[in-house]
Amino acid sequence: MVIVGYGMAGARLAEQVRARDPEGGRVALTVVGAEPWPAYNRVLLSGVLAGTMTAADIALHDPAWARGNRVRLRLGARAVRLDRAARTVRLADGASIGYDALVLATGSRPWLPPVEGLADDRGEPAEGVATLRDLDDCLRIVDQARPGVPVAVLGGGVLGVETALGLARRGAGVTLIHPADHLMERHLDRTAGMILAALCRAAGVRAVTGRAAVRYYPGEGVKLEDGAFVPAAVTVVTAGVRPETGLAADAGLAVDAGIVVDDRLRTADPLIHAIGDCARAGRAPQGLVQPAWEQAAVLADLLTGADGTARYRAGPVVTRLRAGDVDLTAFGETHLEADLTALGETHLESDSPRAEVLSYVDPARGTYAKLALADDRVIGAIVLGLPDAAATLTQLHDTGGPAPGDRPALLFGRALPQAVADDPARLPDSATVCRCNSVTKADLVRAARSVGGDLGALMGATRAATGCGDCLRTVRRLAERLEDDSGNTTEGTGT
Ligand SMILES: Cc1cc2nc3c(=O)[nH]c(=O)nc-3n(C[C@H](O)[C@H](O)[C@H](O)COP(=O)(O)OP(=O)(O)OC[C@H]3O[C@@H](n4cnc5c(N)ncnc54)[C@H](O)[C@@H]3O)c2cc1C
Repeated sequence: MVIVGYGMAGARLAEQVRARDPEGGRVALTVVGAEPWPAYNRVLLSGVLAGTMTAADIALHDPAWARGNRVRLRLGARAVRLDRAARTVRLADGASIGYDALVLATGSRPWLPPVEGLADDRGEPAEGVATLRDLDDCLRIVDQARPGVPVAVLGGGVLGVETALGLARRGAGVTLIHPADHLMERHLDRTAGMILAALCRAAGVRAVTGRAAVRYYPGEGVKLEDGAFVPAAVTVVTAGVRPETGLAADAGLAVDAGIVVDDRLRTADPLIHAIGDCARAGRAPQGLVQPAWEQAAVLADLLTGADGTARYRAGPVVTRLRAGDVDLTAFGETHLEADLTALGETHLESDSPRAEVLSYVDPARGTYAKLALADDRVIGAIVLGLPDAAATLTQLHDTGGPAPGDRPALLFGRALPQAVADDPARLPDSATVCRCNSVTKADLVRAARSVGGDLGALMGATRAATGCGDCLRTVRRLAERLEDDSGNTTEGTGT
C-alpha cells in the first residue's frame, strides 16, 4: 500500500492500518510526504502562530515512529505522476514506487483571490504575501509579523479570524479585510458577525468588512475597492483552500471539487482511493479534520480486511473558534430568522420544516445565542461567549432528542444540567466528547476500565483531545472523576 500525503489524513491512515496489522504481515506500507518533517497536527498551527504552542508541541509522530511501525517513510518526497497501467507512483527525484493499493491524501492548498499583484507570473504568492497551510508558512509568518509590524489579513473566515487574533496577540498591527458584509458569513448571521468583529477590535484587530481588496503593492500594503489604503509590510491570505487534485486529474480520474470517491472512499479505479481534504465523498464536508479521520478509519478497515463492510457516512459538523476571549460555536441552520410580522406563527426563509428561532444578544459583553428548532428538535445554533449553552445545544443536535420546553434555560445552557462541562461524568453515554476523533463518553468510560483514569493514558487509548484540543478540559474532568471512582465507573448514570 502506498499513501501519498503525510498530513493529518495520511498519518492517521498509516496508524490505523498498523493498529489492525501491527506486524505488517498483511500490508507492506509506504508513505510519501512532500513536507520535510514527520506529521504534525495542522489544526494547531493557529496555536503556533499565536505563540501559545511550539512546533514540537504539535508533532503527531516522532522521527522514530515510522521505523518502529514498519512503515517505509519518504519525507520531502513529492509524487509527481501516477501510472495506473503500470501501478506506479513517480516521485520528483525520479524514483518510482509500485502499488497494489494507492491512497491519495494530498490535502488542499490555499487559494489566492484575483487581487491585482497578489500572485507572481507562476501564480505563486508575490513577495511579501504569505499563505498559511503548513509549518513552513507558519514559521515564516511568525518571523516576519513581529511586534509593531503592520499586517493585512485577507479573508475573514474561521482561519482569517484565528490568524488575525493570533498575530495581534504577538503584537503585530493587524487589519483584517473581508469583502462580505460581516465576518464568517457562511457560518454566522449578521448579528454574530458584527459581535465577532467587535471582539476582534477589542483584541487589537482592525476589522474592515464589506470592502474587497483590489490591488496589492509589495511591501507597502493593499488598496481597497473604495480607494482606501491599508499599509502592510506583510499580507497573509486566508481566502479559502482548493483540494489538491492534480495527480488524480492527470491520471484521468474524476475530479469535481475534490477527487470523486464512493462510500468506500474508492475512485473509479478500484486500486486508487482518496481521503481527507483532497477527496469528495458525496456531500461530506471538506476542509475539516473530523471527516478526514473518520475516512481514515473506514479505509483502514477496508484495506486491511478488518471489516469489509465498513462504509463512510458523513456526520454533522460543528464550527468552532477559540482564540483569546473569543469562544464561538456554530452548526446547522444558522441563517434562519424569526418572522416577527407573523407573531404566533414563525416563518422560515429556507425550505426547512417549520421552525422556531430564539435569540439572546448582549453586544456590550460580546455574548450571543441563537437557536433554531423544528418539530421540537435543535436544527442549528450560533453561540458566542456562552460555553455551557454551546455544550448543551451541540449535544441536543447530536442526539436529535426533543428539546426541553424551558426555552430560556435551553438558550443559556441550563436546561440540561448533565451537559455542563464542569461535571462531564453526568453526560449521557452517547454524548460525543471529542468531535475530531468521534469519541463518546461511553468510549472513555470503557477505555478507563482497561487503562485507568490517567489523562494521558485515556488520551492514548481513545485519542480524545488529540485533534483541535477543544475538549481537553472535559476529558480531563472526566478522567479525574473516573480516577476518583477508581473502577466504580459512571457508565449508566447519564440520562
Ligand atoms: C492553520 C489551520 C487551522 C485549521 N484549523 C482547523 C480546525 O480548527 N478544525 C478543523 O477541523 N480543521 C482545521 N483546519 C483544516 C485541517 O487542518 C485539514 O482539514 C486537515 O489537515 C486535512 O487533512 P489532510 O491530510 O487531508 O490534508 P493535510 O493535513 O494538508 O495533508 C496533506 C499532505 O499531503 C502533502 N502532499 C500534497 N501533495 C503531495 C504530493 N504530490 N506528494 C507528496 N505529498 C503531498 C502535503 O504536503 C501535506 O503534508 C485547519 C487548517 C489550517 C491550515
